[in-house]
Amino acid sequence: MNSQASETNQQGGHLTTLVERAEPYAALLRRAHLLAEPEAPTELRLQALWQSPTRPKDLALLDGTPVEVLDPGHWNRTAGPDFRDALLSIGGALRRGDVELHLRPADWDAHGHTKDPAYAGVILHVTWAPGPPAKTLPPAVPTLALAPFAERQGPIDFASLPTPRDDAADPRPCRLRLEGEPGALDRLLVSAGAYRLLIKSRAFAEALRDGSPFQAFYEALLAAMGYRRNVAPFRRLAQEIPFARLQQLPSLRRFAILAGVSGLLKEERRDLWDLWWDSGFPPSLRPYEWDFRALRPQNHPFRRLAGAVGVLHRIDRLLDLSLGNLPEALVEASTLLCEPLALKGALIGANRAHAIVTNLFVPYRLALGSLTAASLDALPGEDVSQPMREAWHRLTGTLRDLPKGGLRQQGLLQIHADFCANPALSCQTCPLADA
Ligand code: SF4
Repeated sequence: MNSQASETNQQGGHLTTLVERAEPYAALLRRAHLLAEPEAPTELRLQALWQSPTRPKDLALLDGTPVEVLDPGHWNRTAGPDFRDALLSIGGALRRGDVELHLRPADWDAHGHTKDPAYAGVILHVTWAPGPPAKTLPPAVPTLALAPFAERQGPIDFASLPTPRDDAADPRPCRLRLEGEPGALDRLLVSAGAYRLLIKSRAFAEALRDGSPFQAFYEALLAAMGYRRNVAPFRRLAQEIPFARLQQLPSLRRFAILAGVSGLLKEERRDLWDLWWDSGFPPSLRPYEWDFRALRPQNHPFRRLAGAVGVLHRIDRLLDLSLGNLPEALVEASTLLCEPLALKGALIGANRAHAIVTNLFVPYRLALGSLTAASLDALPGEDVSQPMREAWHRLTGTLRDLPKGGLRQQGLLQIHADFCANPALSCQTCPLADA
């Protein structure tokens, strides 16, 4: 081994040792819900990360042997290993061959690769999660786990990493077809956006048939306050304390009951505690499983619940407002309890308010029949997301002039979900190519 390789080996060893040494403390933080687990990607996105220059740096095997990726190889889209003909430096020695990727080391065993001659040229097994090597992995093939290195490097935006579909020839067939038909793209976006909103309105239409449309709205409103992690406890709360039982009560008492029953109320808030007890709503028998991991203080469920109660207080007026004025009015309504609860800042941010309008108010009003199709043109847009950007780029070949209105943005999201991100389709078989 030359001196440079030996130095690199030392660095890799130091880093691995550091990860191992830091692990008990990281585990302590995780147990206290102060540190989020790095989110596991799908296998396809893990492959995208391997191919991408943003792959974690300073990689090393579990024993500290440094691994340098000189060429990740060609992405194999047929049977066999995921990448062919990679060039790696492992412990300073150059190796050329195939690379197979899995989420966990044991996936190699589960897929039975050792019995398959197509995998005989594999020189490295790359996994997301660390762990003992697969039982049937040939001894000469080392395992490299990426998650510990990704954790050090910070969050990875997996959704933005290009996948094999992105390698398809440009311009995409959909773009070629749409470019030849004036106005076709806009008609497609409007139609796809209307379709998406109609689908969202179905749950409310069903609730309308059951005679409980507002309860469905109330459940969806509370669930929207949970972001991803606390959707379930918020929804459960709305089901355990139906809106009909709160309807006649003042907002502060509504809040005290919801916070008390769900375990969000601290005993030092004697005033709220008394309001809750006087109302005769017993504490829940089954504790609520709130997830406070890596939660920013402004997203705490206590604040979100207060914001929802503020919105419920003004609901009649909000449901009458034009779509253009609604997001701002929502933000404002959410602050109703800020003063009595001594909370600072908006309890629902502008971005969340836009999402609530699109995903809740519009579908609900569509189901009630209080919104016309023409008024959807005034639906305000949200912050542009990665799927919107991706779909727009594929349809037009540019990232300029992305639609700002909500209806067309919803159309982009629907097209992305139905076609571009549909694993059962390719650009060649996509119905949009020759619709
Ligand atoms: S999957 Fe369909 S909509 Fe998406 S880029 Fe390919 S042809 Fe266009």
